[in-house]
Amino acid sequence: MHEARVVEKVDKSLFIDGKWVEATGGRTFDVLDPATGATLCAVADASPDDGRAALDAAVAAQPGFAALPPRARADILTGAFELLHQRIDELALLMTLEMGKPLAEARGEVVYAAEFFRHFAAEAVRIDGGYQTAPAGGSRFLVTRQPVGPCLLITPWNFPMAMGTRKLGPAIAAGCASVVKPAPQTPLTMLALMDVLTEAGLPGGAVNCITTTDAGAVIEPLIRSGFVRKLSFTGSTAVGRTLLEQCAQKIVRTSLELGGNAPFLVFEDADLDEAVEGAIAAKMRNMGEACTAANRIFVHASVIDEFGRRLAARMAAMKVGPGTQDGVTVGPLIDAAARRKVEELVADAVTRGATVLTGGSTPGGAGYFYPPTVLTGVPRDAQMCDQEIFGPVAPLTPFATEQEVLAAANDTEYGLVAYVFTNDLRRALRVAEALETGMVGLNQGVVSNPAAPFGGVKASGLGREGGSVGIDEFLETKYVGIKMN
Ligand code: NAP
Repeated sequence: MHEARVVEKVDKSLFIDGKWVEATGGRTFDVLDPATGATLCAVADASPDDGRAALDAAVAAQPGFAALPPRARADILTGAFELLHQRIDELALLMTLEMGKPLAEARGEVVYAAEFFRHFAAEAVRIDGGYQTAPAGGSRFLVTRQPVGPCLLITPWNFPMAMGTRKLGPAIAAGCASVVKPAPQTPLTMLALMDVLTEAGLPGGAVNCITTTDAGAVIEPLIRSGFVRKLSFTGSTAVGRTLLEQCAQKIVRTSLELGGNAPFLVFEDADLDEAVEGAIAAKMRNMGEACTAANRIFVHASVIDEFGRRLAARMAAMKVGPGTQDGVTVGPLIDAAARRKVEELVADAVTRGATVLTGGSTPGGAGYFYPPTVLTGVPRDAQMCDQEIFGPVAPLTPFATEQEVLAAANDTEYGLVAYVFTNDLRRALRVAEALETGMVGLNQGVVSNPAAPFGGVKASGLGREGGSVGIDEFLETKYVGIKMN
C-alpha cells in the first residue's frame, strides 16, 4: 500500500469507550518521519480531562469484561493475532514511517507482537486455582484468581507495537480493562492496533488509547485517582522511578521494564563467527535502539583484534538509509536529540583513547542517520560504559580473566540482559549464574520470545512479561477459607 494511504487510513483521534473522539479543544500534535524530518500527520493531544474520560471508560467496562468467559477473551486475542498477520504489509510500513526501522525489521516486529496475542490466548483459558485441606483439618482452602482491575499501560517508541501487545495480551487474557498510552513519537501503530482489536471483537471500554504530549500531567492524576489498580510501564529507568513513587501513594501494583546496559562477553574459546553474528544481532537490531542492545562488548585480549576486524567489516557493509528503501538494514535514529547523544558518547570515548574501526561521523542531509560504528580500546570510564548508547555503536573493551570480566559486567546499576559467547559448558553455566541480570543469551544475540519470561533485575525493572508468568502480573490471588463440620 502507498505510504500516504497507510497514514491516512489510521484514525488519529483518542479511542475511548469503543469510540473515536477528539481531544478537548481539538488539540493535536505532529508525528514526524525520522528518515526525512517531515511531518507525517497530526494526532489528538489528550488533556488530563481526556485521560480521566479514558480511565472512567475502563473502570465502567471492568466488571463486564472480567465476567466474559475466558474462551471469549482468548478468541478476541486469536482474532487479533490473525488480523495482524493479514495486515502485516500496511502495519509494517506504518511503523517504519513513524519510527524509522527498516521494513524487514518492522515486519519482524508485527510477527513478534502478534505472537504475544497468540501466547496469551492460550494462557487465558489456563488460569488456575486450588482446593486444599487445611493442615489441621476441619477447613478447606479455596484459591482462585481474579483480574487485578483497571490497568494503565505506558509504552516507549522503540518497539511501538510489540511493547503494546506484550501488555495488552496478558491484560485482555486476565480480564483487565485498560488505558494505553503510546509514546508521542510513534502513536500511529498503537492507534491502528485499536482498530485490529475492535474488529477482533473487543468490547467498548475494555481498551482505551490516549495520545498526548503532556504525559506527566495526564498520567499522574490517573495514578493518584485510586481507580488504577495496576501500572505496566516500559521506558527509561528515570521515568520508571517517578511512576513507582506515584504508585506507592495508592499501593498500585507495578510492572516496570526499564533501561539496560547489556554486557556482551566473548571468551577466547568462542566461535568467533558465531560471536560476530551474535554481536550484530544484539547491537544492530532496531539500529541499537533497544533496551537489550549490547552496550559494552568485552572481548578476551587474545582475540579482540580479530573479532574487531570481522565485526567492523560486517558493520561497514550494512546499508544505511530510509527504512522504506530496498536493502536498507540501518534506518535513522528516532530524533535529533537521540543522534546528538550518540555523537557525544562517541566523541567522549575517542577523547579517552578509543580507536574508531569503522563509522564514527555523522552524514549530512535530511533524517537522523548515524553510521554503524565500531570502537576498540574503549576504557571502562568512558561515558558510554555507564549509559545506554541507544544507537549503532559497538564499543569493544579487552579483558584478561573471567573474574575480571564478570566484575566489570556487573559494575552497573542495570541488570536486564547479558550475552556470553564460549564453547566451554562449565564456564557458560558459571558465568550465566554469576551475571546480575534477569536474562542471559548463551551463544545467541537475541533473547526476546513471547513464551519466555522477559525482564530485568536491579534498576532494569520489576516483574516479568511473557512466558507462563506474564499473566500473573495481571491477576490477584484470592483465598477463601471454608469451615467444614
Ligand atoms: P521514556 O522517556 O521513559 O518514555 C517511555 C514512555 O513513558 C513514553 O510513552 C513517555 O511519553 C512516557 N512518560 C514519560 N514521562 C512520563 C511521566 N512523567 N508520566 C507518565 N508517562 C511518562 O522512554 P523512551 O525514550 O520512550 O524509551 C526508551 C527507554 O525505554 C530506554 O531506556 C529503553 O531501555 C527502555 N525500554 C525498556 C524495555 C524493557 O523491556 N526493559 C523495552 C523497550 C525500551 P513522553 O515521551 O511523552 O514523555
